[in-house]
Amino acid sequence: MSTPAIARELMVASQLRDRGISDPRVLEAMLRVPRHEFVPEPYRAQAYEDHPLPIGDNQTISQPYIVAVMLEALQLRPSDKVLEVGTGSGYVTALLAELAAEVFSIERHPALARKARDLLAGLGYSNVHVFAGDGTLGLPAAAPFDAIMVAAAAPDLPPALIAQLDDQGRMIIPIGTDDSQQLQLVRMVGGQPIITPRELVRFVPLISNRDE
Ligand code: SAH
Repeated sequence: MSTPAIARELMVASQLRDRGISDPRVLEAMLRVPRHEFVPEPYRAQAYEDHPLPIGDNQTISQPYIVAVMLEALQLRPSDKVLEVGTGSGYVTALLAELAAEVFSIERHPALARKARDLLAGLGYSNVHVFAGDGTLGLPAAAPFDAIMVAAAAPDLPPALIAQLDDQGRMIIPIGTDDSQQLQLVRMVGGQPIITPRELVRFVPLISNRDE
């Protein structure tokens, strides 16, 4: 086995399985996706460690455990159409592409969007579409979505994202201020969002174009 593959085995066993992540599809996807490819060269040796890492433009690739918690909460099916807000490195985009049928991902930094698009294409992911833009508006042209994953913290639930969830659709999103955030799991049932508070987290802020 290659060194990264061994590091991935260890990451999945000690950071995920031992901490209670049990969905076999999530664990398998995290064994498959080469996280080191999404980490810039100076940090590559730390790619499988238990923390976020810088990816440029003041942004970070999320901690593996938090990614797994969010993916598990979404209960993705192989037929699902998914929206990701905050492509960043493209790491989570690749995981979503392993778990669902089609992934639409939006990133507000054009340079990060371009890099992630090229990397994902190079790794052979043909079921992903990466766009540069404001993810708080969602992607009305591709809606509704079975699942939405938001990788940056919003002060409140963005109404456009709720509106683009299909019936029985799920969204996982960090809500709160810079230093106090909590993941919220939203499930659409008969046109109403049912909200379940989950783990406390720390994400970079979701910046809407209206804030600038
Ligand atoms: N899942 C990514 C996380 C990246 S951090 C990874 O593991 O690499 C969150 C990303 O959200 C950043 O790249 C940031 O630029 C982006 N972001 C912040 N506000 C946004 C918005 N309104 N629309 C789209 N992307 C946004």
